[in-house]
Amino acid sequence: MAILIKNATTIVTMDATLSDLAQADIRVENGVISEIGKGLDSTGDSIDASGCVVTPGLVNTHHHLYQTLTRAVPGGQDALLFGWLQTLYPIWSRFGPEEMFISAQIGLAELALSGCTLTSDHLYLYPNGARLDDTIAAAHEIGMRFHPTRGAMSIGESDGGLPPDALVEREEFILEDCVRVIDAHHDPREGAMVRVGVAPCSPFSVSRELMRDAALLARDKGVMLHTHLAENDEDIAYSLEKFGCRPGQYAEDLGWTGPDVWHAHCVKLDGQEIDLFARSRTGVAHCPCSNCRLGSGIAPVRAMRDAGVPVGLGVDGSASNDSGNLVAEARQAMLLQRVANGANAMSAREALYIATRGGAEVLGRPDCGQIAVGKRADIAIWDVSGVESAGSWDPAALLLAGPTRVKHLLVEGRQIVRDGHMTSIDLPRVVERQNALARALMG
Ligand SMILES: [Zn+2]
Repeated sequence: MAILIKNATTIVTMDATLSDLAQADIRVENGVISEIGKGLDSTGDSIDASGCVVTPGLVNTHHHLYQTLTRAVPGGQDALLFGWLQTLYPIWSRFGPEEMFISAQIGLAELALSGCTLTSDHLYLYPNGARLDDTIAAAHEIGMRFHPTRGAMSIGESDGGLPPDALVEREEFILEDCVRVIDAHHDPREGAMVRVGVAPCSPFSVSRELMRDAALLARDKGVMLHTHLAENDEDIAYSLEKFGCRPGQYAEDLGWTGPDVWHAHCVKLDGQEIDLFARSRTGVAHCPCSNCRLGSGIAPVRAMRDAGVPVGLGVDGSASNDSGNLVAEARQAMLLQRVANGANAMSAREALYIATRGGAEVLGRPDCGQIAVGKRADIAIWDVSGVESAGSWDPAALLLAGPTRVKHLLVEGRQIVRDGHMTSIDLPRVVERQNALARALMG
């Protein structure tokens, strides 16, 4: 299957030389970019990209898709992290397989419409028969490249933990189910559409033993590790009190550093922890909107990038954002570093790099995140002929002035957004079902 993307106004490649190309074409064959140049011969299908900026598809490195069903819940709108969790846990405990499937489709469609072609997801609660497989089915139907992680919580209220007992699982079962979903769905090959990760929810919701065993299991299976780390001051205080050390030390002691590990947030990493992450090539999922929304602080992304820490971008769960627009998240990342470090702290191009190639690196996907011959054909096409870009002297500086919704989107060479609409699902029907499920939860 071949397709030609023709006459792009600018292609922002994020390739080895970080070059931009003007008035160029991209040929896609069998899911891979096969040729880039001017005036390429058109024989089969084509997409007219005149008046458009073309970028690699955006990569989302942290999400909880199920939370699209609990956006803007009144009791959680203005709470800090722990209070926010305690408001939402009882609602989430009423979810089941359909809630997981529909909320994942909503979250994935929202991401796709904002330019995302590859997303991770962190699902750490499985009430009423829900399974990781429900979200994998949702992503398969949409056609999104998907890295679901088998999350978990094992310390409930009766053991001094935060979540209600009904939402925690036995640790032996958690590890068994990790093996099950890896064996059933993980694809280690280049071009994989699904890769599974192992992801206990956070150091405060599972035991030290589970953190250690999860790392051993992931290494044995050759899959990646993911969790929340150093999210806010409460999180640091908890680590010091319960574990007698900072989160970086805790992670290192239990095998949670390395190029096969990425941690969400890391707002409160100190200089030594940043050095540890750089040295060990441990990745970070930076979630600026969630950090703002929950008042967690400003992650030291400038210092991380300068030290050489791999940094990607995450919209985080839709209940702590409460949006899931990835290109808007990239703009927020750029703005927040400027708040902390000055107007030259992060350029629009650097923020776009983090949102594309940076995320692909964090997720262990060197085959994605760039427009270059031989890379997977995950491509976002942005119409810069509209009102948001009118008057821009540099339309490719999308994060300063540009659309927040793609015109076209290709994943593995398949067009899943055409003229701003999802091609793979009947989105209005899914929205209707999601709202019905939300109303049922409110009642
Ligand atoms: Zn999160």
